[in-house]
Amino acid sequence: MRLVFFGPPGSGKGTQAKMVSDRLGIPQISTGDILREAVARGSDLGKKARSYMDAGKLVPDDIMLSLIEKRTGEADCAKGYILDGFPRTLAQAIGLDEILSQRHESIDLAILIEVSDETVITRLTRRRVCPQCHALYNLDTDPPKDDNRCDRCGVELVLRSDDEETTVRTRLNVYRNDTLPLADYYESRGILRRIDGEGRVEEVFDAIMEALTEVRQS
Ligand code: AMP
Repeated sequence: MRLVFFGPPGSGKGTQAKMVSDRLGIPQISTGDILREAVARGSDLGKKARSYMDAGKLVPDDIMLSLIEKRTGEADCAKGYILDGFPRTLAQAIGLDEILSQRHESIDLAILIEVSDETVITRLTRRRVCPQCHALYNLDTDPPKDDNRCDRCGVELVLRSDDEETTVRTRLNVYRNDTLPLADYYESRGILRRIDGEGRVEEVFDAIMEALTEVRQS
């Protein structure tokens, strides 16, 4: 199955994509993670992407499309994959369809995880990340055992630079203007499923699995 997961920042799409990836045995391709690794390594891609990411803006479409064309062509993607955080613009969605149609493939389902702006702001500004192993915590709902230190590494947790409140608000605006139009795009193809992302992680996961089962049976 080739799946697209999208939703506002903090909708839990990364967490859900990871769970579905484990359940279905297909890779999760998180463009945010790929870009953050590139920034950490200081590669050419990282150097190009960094300023956009720190400002909460989107990395240009041509960079993203060539990254995705390469990654989805790798051997572990033969049975399908979950695109987590890509496409983020209409141009990316159209570009993706072009790449896939050259391979006689298509997206099976686009999952939109919906949450309110208030939920996004609370979740992200209370989110902390381990700078070493990238484990995510939430100070309210999933706090570390030891005061502000990673349970696995013992390293001090940090606020991701793009999780500062002003940047979160920019990311929400970018989402509304650039990414939300994808809902119409996928709806018109009959492959959009809307999932309520306000519930507990397990409830959201069950709703996604139900949507996937319907599609696999049809
Ligand atoms: P994420 O972890 O998915 O929220 O992504 C973090 C940041 O990476 C975003 O705010 C963008 O700057 C950049 N990014 C990730 N995916 C894309 C994409 N498909 N197109 C453009 N920029 C992206």
